[in-house]
This record gives sequence, C-alpha cells and structure tokens, in this order.
Amino acid sequence: MNMLIMIKYGELTTKKANRKTFINILNNNILRVLKNYDVKIKKDRVRMYIETKENELEEITKKLQKVFGLHSIVICHKVNTNIEDISEKVLEIIKNKNFQTFKINTKRADKKFPISSMEFNHKMGGIVLKNTDMKVDVHQPDVMIHIEIRQEGTFVYTDESKGIGGYPVGIQGKGLLMLSGGIDSPVAGYLSLKRGVDLECLYFESPPHTSEEAKNKVTKLASIINEYSGNIKVNVIPFTKLQEEIYKNVPETYVITIMRRMMYRIAEKVAKIKKCKIIINGESIGQVASQTLDSMVVINQVTNMPVIRPVACMDKLEIIELAKKIKTYETSILPYEDCCTIFLPKHPVIHPELQKCLDLEKNLNYKELIEECIQNMEVIENLNQKKFEEIL
Ligand code: ATP
Ligand code: MG
Repeated sequence: MNMLIMIKYGELTTKKANRKTFINILNNNILRVLKNYDVKIKKDRVRMYIETKENELEEITKKLQKVFGLHSIVICHKVNTNIEDISEKVLEIIKNKNFQTFKINTKRADKKFPISSMEFNHKMGGIVLKNTDMKVDVHQPDVMIHIEIRQEGTFVYTDESKGIGGYPVGIQGKGLLMLSGGIDSPVAGYLSLKRGVDLECLYFESPPHTSEEAKNKVTKLASIINEYSGNIKVNVIPFTKLQEEIYKNVPETYVITIMRRMMYRIAEKVAKIKKCKIIINGESIGQVASQTLDSMVVINQVTNMPVIRPVACMDKLEIIELAKKIKTYETSILPYEDCCTIFLPKHPVIHPELQKCLDLEKNLNYKELIEECIQNMEVIENLNQKKFEEIL
C-alpha cells in the first residue's frame, strides 16, 4: 500500500481529556460514510490513515467532505523512512509536471529520526535542485512538497484539501430540531451538527390544511442534512386539533404566540422521550412577529430546556447563502404551506404579555390535546434523499 488518505483532525485536538472518545466517534462516523467501500482505518492521537484501492482515493476524499471533525484530508504516498526512498518519491511526484519553483516542508514528528526538519529541508531541496530544472521559492512556490516523518513511516504529499471542520457528530449527544419546510431550520440543523450535536427532527403538520407534499418536503430536507449524520429521524406531530382549538378560542393577534408556546411544550416532551438534551430551531431575532425578543421571552417561558437558535444572529441573506451551500435552499423554496403560514393573522402581536397568554390558555383544553398529539406522533426513519426526489 503506497498511496493512502491521511486525515488531520479538526478542533478536537484542543480537547485533550476527551480526545480518545472524539477520535473513536469520528472513526465510526467515517466508517458509516464509507460503508460501501473496502477501507482499512488506522488512527493515532494526531492522524488517521485510510487505506483503500488507489482508484477510489479521490471519490473517498469527496465523501469525507461531509464528515464534521476533519481539519484536512490529504492523499499521500507512504514510504520507508530513509533518504533514498523519500527522495525517489519526491522526484517521482514532481517529474513531468510543469513546475518552475518548489519548497520543501518537512515535519519530523518522529524524533528518533536523526536529521532535523530544517536540515532535511536543505538535504531534500539539494536533491531536487540537482535532479530537476526547478528553483527554490520559499514565499510563493508553484509546488509545496510536504514530508511528514512519523513512526509508522514517511508521508509525502503536495495537495491538501480542507475538511469541513467542526466536531464529530454525536459527541454532544442529541438535540431536537424543530424542522419546518422553511429556509432557516435546516440551516440551524446543519450548524448544530457541525458542533457535534446529533439530531432528531420534530415537524408539526396540520392536515388537511397542510399537504402531504409539505411533509415530504420536510422529510427531504431532513434527508439532506442526514448526510452529515446518518441517524436522523423525523417525528411528525398531528397538530390540527390543537391548532383549530387555538384559532377558535384565541384572539387573532395572539394565535401565533399561543401556537408557538404549544409547539415548545410539545417539543420539550418529545425531546425527553427521544433523549434529546436541547431544543433547536431556526428562529432569527426580529425576522417575524413571533421572533422579537419580547415574543421569544414569552414563548420560551413554557420550557426550562435550553433552546438553541443557531441562526438567531444571522441576516436572512447569510442564512440563504448557507442554505444554498448545503443544498437545502432549492427544496426549502418549494411552495407548500406550513402550519405556521396557514391562516396568518394580519396583525400578530409583537410585544406579547405573559399574563395575557396564561389567561387565554385557561380557556383551552390544551393539556389533553398535547397528550393526544404525542400519542399519535409518527416516526419516519431510514431517510433517503432519492426517495423524495421522485415525490416532489
Ligand atoms: P422561513 O425560512 O420561511 O423563515 P421558518 O421555518 O424559519 O421558515 P418561521 O415561521 O420563521 O419559519 O418559524 C421559526 C422556527 O420555528 C422554524 O425555523 C422552525 O424551527 C420552527 N417551526 C416553524 N414551523 C414549524 C413546523 N411546522 N414544524 C416544526 N417546526 C416549525
Ligand atoms: Mg424563519
């Protein structure tokens, strides 16, 4: 095996005590993404090595771009640690390429190797100068030749692809993502996964006011972000009865506030059932009436569970940019109505009063209806993007 993939870990290297757990979870996440490939993974405290067929290296590198926790991904050549083998490989890599200038960057991780990094740079530079027409340029070389001397061998490479960073998904446990068909919540989900939080999704549907397409759209969004996890399920709450109860008994200005308080109450219960530690949603400060700080305070009051809002401080345009990057945007803008957008009041309250909410809720039979919602919750598993491509 002379070519392989070397992985440099991301931020996790700063978390010394938990390093082992981090690396094991990362290892499992990588194995899941590469389950259709015949790979062998070796790992140590600073690097992971993936051995596979040479003609699959590029493809695997692409797959790894969806694994959080990777700082960089390098296709490299492994050689024995001696000057002859290393220089032979270096010359082989650069021969027939149209480079004018080069720089050698040696990293001697194995201190048993007797030549220092600087000295080795000079030695190897001399060999390249002698055997090619190239010149040294330490500032802007056409090609940077990296040589990492490690206990298990020496790794030579020229190109390094950036990984997507973040923490391995799952190291933080799970959060419950309130997932609508909009633009914001899938982005909120992606950002949470990036911090190592695995997800369950919660979707409120109100048939017949909301359609089967709306549900399929949400499931497809979940399946797109599931590429970063593999474990995501969508829990669907039939919200119609409770929503109708609210619309029948609550003045128009307060329906959204009360409805969102109900959503949070249900989210907390589902989170507990599904062993999620937090609730996550796509609220963004000031975006709509229910997302003013005053609204957030009054709505959030129904739960003690932390509510994380990853896009709270982002502009809509920034959220859209990220949605495009993670490929949820095209699905999010499909025109199927969500339960929050049906019967939208003309003048929703933007500074709701807590006492007023409490008084209004006294007239609602909400505790029973919430129980009923949870009893009738549907769980969608085995998310697979392709399945929904045909439906939508
Ligand atoms: P948009 O991108 O159009 O703003 P949105 O999904 O953000 O869509 P909002 O009305 O802003 O819609 O809702 C705020 C948040 O509340 C959502 O990001 C989502 O987390 C949650 N939410 C709204 N509707 C639902 C729903 N039907 N099911 C689950 N969560 C919902
Ligand atoms: Mg929104």
